[in-house]
Amino acid sequence: MANLVAIVGRPNVGKSTLFNRLTQSRRAIVSDTAGTTRDRQYGKCQWNGREFSIVDTGGWVVKSDDIFEDAIRKQVIVATEEADLVLFLVDTETGITDWDEDVAMILRRTKLPVILVANKVDNSGQYYEAAEFYKLGLGEPVCISAATGGGTGDLLDLLLEKMKDAPDENIEEEIPRFAVVGRPNAGKSSLINAFIGEDRNIVTEIAGTTRDSIYTRYNKFGFDFYLVDTAGIRRKNKVTEDLEFYSVMRSIRSIENSDVCILMIDATRGIEAQDMNIFQLIQKNNKSLVVVVNKWDLVQDKTQIVIKTFENAIRNRMAPFVDFPIIFCSALTKQRIFKVLETAKQVYLNRTMHIGTTKLNEVMLPVIEQRLHHRSRASTSR
Ligand code: GDP
Ligand code: GDP
Repeated sequence: MANLVAIVGRPNVGKSTLFNRLTQSRRAIVSDTAGTTRDRQYGKCQWNGREFSIVDTGGWVVKSDDIFEDAIRKQVIVATEEADLVLFLVDTETGITDWDEDVAMILRRTKLPVILVANKVDNSGQYYEAAEFYKLGLGEPVCISAATGGGTGDLLDLLLEKMKDAPDENIEEEIPRFAVVGRPNAGKSSLINAFIGEDRNIVTEIAGTTRDSIYTRYNKFGFDFYLVDTAGIRRKNKVTEDLEFYSVMRSIRSIENSDVCILMIDATRGIEAQDMNIFQLIQKNNKSLVVVVNKWDLVQDKTQIVIKTFENAIRNRMAPFVDFPIIFCSALTKQRIFKVLETAKQVYLNRTMHIGTTKLNEVMLPVIEQRLHHRSRASTSR
């Protein structure tokens, strides 16, 4: 199973600087246009032959002042519930603030590994200043300078040591793993309930070791696959389910552990920024995609023209990645829900298809030759 690390801390302590350093991403390639990739907030880090994902919680902070602190506090709680390790970043220039103490209190209670990181230690003199963070009761602060990279190697070593490899669950590799993802209220729980209902014979929960299993085996009506993170989707948490950050953390976990993602879109709302963010998570992880336009029962005008318009609008938003099926369904009336499964299965088969070298050569060589020929002609004519 994939591992997920969350960076938490007040604004301006250097979360995004550290995130960029660990994921080697550059601000220059980050686009701030609404609804485009949030490279700042989710990325992969490789260290000593291991890979894990990192989320910068700062990216999801609600801007409005009055609910600001409350929102960050909720994010810290979500991080402790959904991540495998938390990096708690504090700022040596400003020292301990009330807010740091608040967060430390939440983090002291969690069973999750937490690493206290004192940032902005740009020179050795500042090591002594960082000693004050012992008071937070989270052990020895690891001193780093996110800006220069100082100390980050030791931090990563410690991180890998503390983050036990998530145990591989005892699942059969050749059976496809489907994740149902989408923003809150798209109808994920409804669809999953429509698939599995309460019939215990259809589903088998696999006993996980450290935490609840995220795989549920579905075996009926000629289908055999795992649904990823069903429990998480069905078990709703009132405090946090409205936070976009929460839905993103859950999506990351589901997507990373799946083969095919079933992205649910609410027909009555169309594609919005949140849908695009989830789509980009799918794309970044190279997973296959089936788009499901749900609540189709609420759409009055179901003519071919309306369907085409819908399809085009979706593909335009997701361009240049347009090669995925779109199914119109209703989790409520169960219209076409098995079509969703059939399509996901087909997409999985395409994904795992092997093309022999001979066949590949047969198709590709003429194309390559033609292109080379074309290029050499173009250059001689210049
Ligand atoms: P965030 O709000 O927690 O994501 O913080 P940022 O990463 O945006 O950093 C806030 C400010 O602190 C920026 O001006 C950074 O350049 C600065 N900063 C970040 N890391 C360091 C560091 O290690 N040393 C120093 N001196 N400044 C830093
Ligand atoms: P989730 O947050 O993505 O798990 O969404 P839910 O499954 O909880 O659904 C959110 C709301 O949409 C609930 O009130 C559902 O009853 C409703 N809903 C879900 N699917 C459909 C559908 O196909 N048609 C209609 N009319 N309502 C739906």
